[in-house]
Amino acid sequence: LNATAFKDTPAQADMNAATSEASIKLPMNLSTEAAPPGVRADVQGAGPFATAGPQPIDKYMWLRDLRMASPSSYFRVLVNNTLDVLPYIYTPTVGKACQEYHTLGIATRGLYLRIDQDKGKILERLKAWPQKRVRTIVVTDGERILGLGDLGANGMGISEGKIELYTAAAGVNPAVCLPVCLDVGTNNVKLREHPKYKGVRAARPPQKEYDEFVQEFMEAIRAWQPHTLIQFEDFGNTNAFRILDKYRDDYCCFNDDIQGTAAITLAALLAALRVTGQRLADQRILFLGAGEAAAGIATLISYCMTRRDNIEPAAARQRCHLMDSKGLVIASRTDLQHHKRPFAHSDVPPCTTLIEAVRAIKPTVLIGASAVPNSFTQEVVEAMAELNARPIICPLSNPTSQAECTFEQAWKWTNGRVLFASGSPFDPITDAQGIAHHPPQANNAYIFPAVGHAAVLTKSKRVPEELFLVAAEQLAAMATVEELSRGHLFPVFSHIRDISASIMASCAHYLVTEGLGRNPRGWSQEDLEQGNGWRRAARAAMWSPPAAGSATASASM
Ligand code: NAP
Ligand code: MN
Repeated sequence: LNATAFKDTPAQADMNAATSEASIKLPMNLSTEAAPPGVRADVQGAGPFATAGPQPIDKYMWLRDLRMASPSSYFRVLVNNTLDVLPYIYTPTVGKACQEYHTLGIATRGLYLRIDQDKGKILERLKAWPQKRVRTIVVTDGERILGLGDLGANGMGISEGKIELYTAAAGVNPAVCLPVCLDVGTNNVKLREHPKYKGVRAARPPQKEYDEFVQEFMEAIRAWQPHTLIQFEDFGNTNAFRILDKYRDDYCCFNDDIQGTAAITLAALLAALRVTGQRLADQRILFLGAGEAAAGIATLISYCMTRRDNIEPAAARQRCHLMDSKGLVIASRTDLQHHKRPFAHSDVPPCTTLIEAVRAIKPTVLIGASAVPNSFTQEVVEAMAELNARPIICPLSNPTSQAECTFEQAWKWTNGRVLFASGSPFDPITDAQGIAHHPPQANNAYIFPAVGHAAVLTKSKRVPEELFLVAAEQLAAMATVEELSRGHLFPVFSHIRDISASIMASCAHYLVTEGLGRNPRGWSQEDLEQGNGWRRAARAAMWSPPAAGSATASASM
């Protein structure tokens, strides 16, 4: 392997073991520093390949090719070295992969449903699909891929990447996972006119036609596989809220951009409040951004305040303030989209800048979900530090280039008093005593795979909002006091399967108790009553790839 590829990590050892299996023909030779044959000049980035080594996109392609050539090797790498390979199968590399999906020569693994060819025939297409049993679906329509906009059929890359997390983090058998792209066209003219673009070469359809297609999809999935979880991913924000509202009570489905983000951020807050000893209902929370992430988080936070701190829903919403591109969201505005209205208050003055809003609202918590880089300025962060002994600051925007501030800035401008969680990873800081502080990353992968797997195992009828609260509370309780004292709000990601098992156990218990799902097979009342509830059963229910060299290792999956 290339020296810069997975140097000195267990992944490298496993890769080497994997690639020494005689049956595997390597798609690219990553063992030399020279450009492997077939590496595309257009994705190499700056500088000669010989010195730069394989670029992230090459590792992405290599991992895809390994998945095809030797699934068992690939899944050993994925499960045993999740943290090492995550950046190449998922963000940030998957963003570039989606932008270039049409030129990369990718063999698509997921299911495309095209509005021009499959409308009226979706069930037929599903019945002809080679997988006979599917339990988990990640579906996108490609309209808002990460922060990269409308990528049409190229959005398939996000479904393919994200569904791998179900296997890596929560042990869903890859054989029952299905990535889907609803190809309804794209408004990205440059992309749809590209000679190599494979998707529908038309603009996105009017709402009625779009809705009929989504409706047909939902009904066809239910007719084909009645106990399947459907995760909506990277829909444009108007459709994302509408579709979630339309299906959440009747189908086992959720939207990760709205609800998964909400749960991980609520978990960060609850863990931070373990440090400050305060009540959630006593916080004032200011969001920069009023889109899927911000509205989702504000909804779950206010729901948590009503459920746990017993305050009225209206009073709870009153504690959350949103700012969009036009300024503070307030009741007198007439230009507000539906999802912002619950948070449009009349007791605050109009503000157009963040610093004005901070001075007017005096927040205890500042959350960034605007994708406006550097918007948490020194003035803003210092104002937060003046108002609060331990200001809670969460710049969630991804990728790193879009972050509202860095960990170093937040640390410096608050003299190390900040309680911090970010969307993108940042380097640790060493304080004057030589103690390293690692900034926690609010990664949705702590939440959605476990929530989804619990819903699948219990054959839940729906995924209620409360389930995200259960998951957030479970995660927030998991960091040790020692970890918390160093600002680690979450247990380290390398223990993700154990973390997921605890979340799955709590979620499954909730679903069964509420009568939405049933006891998973083999999960007994006795297990439940032992100290750790169903945690052990959840851990045992996780699929693992066969060990290298075992009889089943070369079997196809
Ligand atoms: P979205 O639905 O498009 O929302 C973006 C919001 O930002 C909109 O409300 C927009 O205002 C607002 N905005 C744009 N420019 C602004 C400005 N100059 N000042 C104030 N507000 C401004 O996107 P999203 O899904 O919420 O995602 C937002 C960001 O959060 C992305 O960078 C994404 O990567 C990140 N995110 C992170 C996580 C995580 O860390 N776990 C999870 C999900 C998303 P208008 O409404 O006026 O257009
Ligand atoms: Mn997403």
